[in-house]
Amino acid sequence: MADQLGSLSRTHTCGALRDSDVGGRATLLGWVHRVRDLGGVVFIDVRDREGITQVVIGSEPLLGQAKRLRSEYVVGVIGTVRQRAADTVNPKLPTGTVEVAADEIRVLNEAKTPPFSVSDDSTVSEDVRLRYRYLDLRRPRLQYNMGLRHRITMAVRQYFDREGFWEIETPILTKSTPEGARDYLVPSRVHPGEFFALPQSPQIFKQILMIGGMDRYFQIVKCFRDEDLRADRQPEFTQVDVEMAFARPESIFSTIEPLIQIIFREIGVEVAAPFRKLPYAEAMAKYGSDKPDLRFGLEITDVSDVWKDAAFNAFRDIVGKGGVVRALVVPGAAKYSRSELDALVEQAKQLGAVGILWARRGEGGGLNTNVKAAGESTLLASMEAAACRPEDLILLAGGEPDSASKLLGAFRLSLAKKENLIPANRYDFAWVVDFPLLEWDVDDKRWAPMHHPFTSPLDEDFGRLDSDPGHVRAKAYDLVLNGSEIGGGSIRIHDSAVQSRIFQLLNISEEDARLRFGFFVEALQYGTPPHGGIALGLDRIVAILAGETSIREVIAFPKTAAAVDLMSGAPSGVDDKQLRELRLKIAPTKT
Ligand code: ASP
Repeated sequence: MADQLGSLSRTHTCGALRDSDVGGRATLLGWVHRVRDLGGVVFIDVRDREGITQVVIGSEPLLGQAKRLRSEYVVGVIGTVRQRAADTVNPKLPTGTVEVAADEIRVLNEAKTPPFSVSDDSTVSEDVRLRYRYLDLRRPRLQYNMGLRHRITMAVRQYFDREGFWEIETPILTKSTPEGARDYLVPSRVHPGEFFALPQSPQIFKQILMIGGMDRYFQIVKCFRDEDLRADRQPEFTQVDVEMAFARPESIFSTIEPLIQIIFREIGVEVAAPFRKLPYAEAMAKYGSDKPDLRFGLEITDVSDVWKDAAFNAFRDIVGKGGVVRALVVPGAAKYSRSELDALVEQAKQLGAVGILWARRGEGGGLNTNVKAAGESTLLASMEAAACRPEDLILLAGGEPDSASKLLGAFRLSLAKKENLIPANRYDFAWVVDFPLLEWDVDDKRWAPMHHPFTSPLDEDFGRLDSDPGHVRAKAYDLVLNGSEIGGGSIRIHDSAVQSRIFQLLNISEEDARLRFGFFVEALQYGTPPHGGIALGLDRIVAILAGETSIREVIAFPKTAAAVDLMSGAPSGVDDKQLRELRLKIAPTKT
């Protein structure tokens, strides 16, 4: 049986002892990190969250006991701190000049042999790491990531407190919130046949808090979205959720920018503010993305003018019908081999395009392209218009403005990677602003909100709501960092007549609006202050700061990409009794 903790109490963490402690007594509590048995003397590295300390045992009866210790046993060690001999100093450890000469060891627990090494970050398949997450959490990488996450969340809380924001909790068992994803539903036992929805965000509640006079709200909150699985999404994720009464977009920017600066100081990075503002239309045209990576140039240029009277009818007709021809110049890529160029065309097809037109100067200055019919002079004129040098490659895409740019935007990213054009350790922030209020849902043939249905149109675009809804811009903004969206929000509609008008535009009937957000529409009529807010994606921000590409590395207990928890085995079936209580029946799966 394992020893009990009894009166044993830690005097120092395993990261604390220094030269100045030499001669003193110490009690360490932690895990056996490594055992080195040299026969007449045994060294044990004892580890806790704060570090590692070397313990030395040189005589019986402790020697026999020490020899039986194995990795990951939980031990208490009592002893005297002493200086290490000069030749055994470990410069890599802050505790590396001292050791504890043990006179008592208590084995507080034994451990089965772990399925992978806990003492280092050696590669292990992610499934195994997630299955034994408690062991993975002991490893250096997750110890650091969890510590970083803690420091960031504390910094967030302190900042908002200083700025007069109150942290207010909102319900988890609630009604559907329209963030555009599928809801997780929770059946009500007390009201059979009725369901709660888990919040996709606290959106409606935080707006009601503004109506309730709470003035400045924030919350570090879980949100739930039953989305189709995409790489690096989690069904539950954490937002730093914020709302302010009497806010203009600038109020949100000037609240969030200093917070970002504080957060980045956690990794010693000074972020310059104010951040650049980039209208959505410009972001799409120049970078082919509403979350552009601004660490490098490679801007897309419009060369439509060159093609409007060209002999090549494919592009000429596109331009004639209001479409565009756009170009991406890849510096130094004229040297690509034929198979590299074929791969680009293949990539374009995989991105859903018919292909991509490339052109470059051949040997001797002539032109070399995969679409000869495009015509040499027009291609040369396009190269000229796009400042394509003889050593560069030009890619051309024609079509609707956004789709041509999106295609080139995808190449912009992949070729920047291939050409090593993305500088490391740079953090380029921007606010993408003036998003369209609505987007056309081709499948449902109706307007859908680009953000959510409570977003206010720009003042100057109100007049277009009836005549030209597709060109109404919104007081919506996204915070973008290095090609990731790390936050998004908007100024809200605070006038119930405007809100009803937007519901009509979205084809949400009065009846439907009453059923889904009746309580909110009613609340709007009782003196709603102008207000707005934002939500920051905490998991993504911590991942970027930790230098991780996957948010799973900064979440203690994440789900896999297939939305399962490999450690607990959730989701899983439930008892028939539970189903009966809920009056639910499981329909057989169709095969
Ligand atoms: N509720 C929004 C979201 O989760 C953010 C906001 O508008 O504040 O994306």
